[in-house]
Amino acid sequence: MRTTAAMVAATLLASTAAGELRVGAAARTVTPDLAKYGPVYMAGFDHNRRATGVHDDLYARCIAFGGGARPLVICGVDVIGIFRDDVEKIRAQVDADLVVAALHDHEGPDTMGMWGASPAATGINPAYNAYLVERTAEAARAAIQAMRPARVRLAAVKTPELDTFIDDTRPPVVHDPEILALRAETAGGEPIATLVNWANHPETLGSRNTLITADYSGYLCRELERTLGGTAVFVNGAVGGMQSPLGAAVKDPRTGSVLPERTFEKAEFIGSRVARLASDALKSAPVAAIDGYLFRETTVRIPMTNAGFQMAAKAGIFAGRKLPNDDGTTTTPVGYIRFARGREPVLEIGLIPGELYPELSVGGVERYSGADFPGAPIEPAVKQLMAAPYRMLFGLADDELGYIIPKAEWDEKAPYLNGAAKPWYGEVNSVGPDAAARIIGALCELIVAK
Ligand SMILES: [Zn+2]
Repeated sequence: MRTTAAMVAATLLASTAAGELRVGAAARTVTPDLAKYGPVYMAGFDHNRRATGVHDDLYARCIAFGGGARPLVICGVDVIGIFRDDVEKIRAQVDADLVVAALHDHEGPDTMGMWGASPAATGINPAYNAYLVERTAEAARAAIQAMRPARVRLAAVKTPELDTFIDDTRPPVVHDPEILALRAETAGGEPIATLVNWANHPETLGSRNTLITADYSGYLCRELERTLGGTAVFVNGAVGGMQSPLGAAVKDPRTGSVLPERTFEKAEFIGSRVARLASDALKSAPVAAIDGYLFRETTVRIPMTNAGFQMAAKAGIFAGRKLPNDDGTTTTPVGYIRFARGREPVLEIGLIPGELYPELSVGGVERYSGADFPGAPIEPAVKQLMAAPYRMLFGLADDELGYIIPKAEWDEKAPYLNGAAKPWYGEVNSVGPDAAARIIGALCELIVAK
């Protein structure tokens, strides 16, 4: 794969831990106070969806790993997306290698600005974003403080039922439905934390709900904590192209009937079921021998060809965030984590700053008639680049660029893919056709770096 000069020139951070692994975890609520931060515009669908109440709390949940020179902290946060500008503010308050991944909650506040009262008005309340930064940093620091000697267990689960939780609205129909889970406990077996990675849009409640909720992610974490104890941390995966519980016929095996659309009942079922599959697998998982971990990060510049994003940046929709570089590119981080025993990778994690199409996670990119770049090289699939028995992919990690689309499937110009009458949904929420190659190219380098 061709790499870019910008990427090679970027900083490479690495920290390796040796000796005893330590793990801690902590959570803080980040629920917007509707009186203080109102009107709270809800993110993810149309403009001007004002929150009218709170159904359940939103959280920043963090797990910290220590034992080496520098702790590594992973936080999952119940909001639509956190731009790199805000991530850097959180990082400035935490002495660690810190990964902040928004869970892409479509039933929470607009932290990106795109869903305000009108297309011309930002939906960001700067005071709420500042609160989110403070609280996430606080959770990360508390997780570091809570670190104690730990052992971990790892599990992966993939069942046909999981595919039924995801509706893919664009061809090719590819899901990345595998649940990856890590459980940390003391030598005596006392629970510390569970980290779960799975891929689906937290938008079960749909576009008409006006109650703030963590959607299925909230139920997932609550059920994990109920069954396993400790603090649960969820991080979303390759949710692009587009992986949604909306339209997915999810059957409740207790009744045999399909759960009604856009209900808390359906969100609860999905979240609890994913949690239970993860906890059952973890209960029988052996202890994984891990004697070190490393974190690597680089930045890439991606041409921002999306006219809507350019206009939004100029119009102040992102409220001072996501300002393009002079050459029209946007700078974004790409990261990589590896837990290993000696030279043997045990768990690898790709940190992707947006919503990766699942065919770029597990393979299956297709060439269709009508594509704008029919000869574009096919980018390698992230999980196929890794060698460890457990491979996670964190979506929206440390930034949110929107969809990351295989260039061979990019299609803004007629004729449309597969003879479609109108363009498929996706490109309108992507920075541009080169995002996938730049990001995955950078990740390739981080994986093989010495
Ligand atoms: Zn999305």
